[in-house]
Amino acid sequence: MYIDWSNIETVLLDMDGTLLDLHFDSHFWLDHLPQVYAQKHQLSDEEVQQIMMPLFENHAGTLNWYCVEFWSDALGLDIMQHKQEVSHKIGYRPAAQGFLQRCREQVDDLRLITNAHREVLNLKIEHTKLDQYFDQMVCSHELGAPKEQLEFWSSLHSMQGFDPDSTLFIDDSETVLDAAHAFGIGHIFSIAEPDSQRERAQASKFPMLTSFTSAQEAPLKQR
Ligand SMILES: [Mg+2]
Repeated sequence: MYIDWSNIETVLLDMDGTLLDLHFDSHFWLDHLPQVYAQKHQLSDEEVQQIMMPLFENHAGTLNWYCVEFWSDALGLDIMQHKQEVSHKIGYRPAAQGFLQRCREQVDDLRLITNAHREVLNLKIEHTKLDQYFDQMVCSHELGAPKEQLEFWSSLHSMQGFDPDSTLFIDDSETVLDAAHAFGIGHIFSIAEPDSQRERAQASKFPMLTSFTSAQEAPLKQR
């Protein structure tokens, strides 16, 4: 794992599964919320699966997938309230804060770019103080397209310009990385273990960061 800092001016970082442990999100969507729904409607786990799985499949990778209001309406549940109930599970991936510090020292343009809804981002900031590191925190909802789509990347670029060639982007979603690659982002890394409690489901055609500690061994820019 080697990050060539001397050629990097802008750093774009994903939040869930990259800086923060995806365990919170997996637990919320796959365990906690189905349980809440089952209790509310007096359904078995299997019945809940039959209702939720098609919804998950139909909306994966779209803005709806990441939209608090969409899921609150679709399931008749207060999503933010139920996220609060398990918010003690929100936390950094190993060595992520050291890596953020390193990025902060190395570039003048450090942005969080997330598909998470602003309300969810705020909940995560409350628990991690993640906002202290960034120049900007961009939610894809506010640009009208998720990171999976090229439209997101052109909107991000028109919001505040950056040179794609000298931009580092790290994300745990292969579809998102493909879009970044198609846009021309020069330095792309995937994450080997987004969720501390689960095996990673996908392989990646991009170099995988096995740990943020190894990323810090790379030579630093003279500033
Ligand atoms: Mg992610």
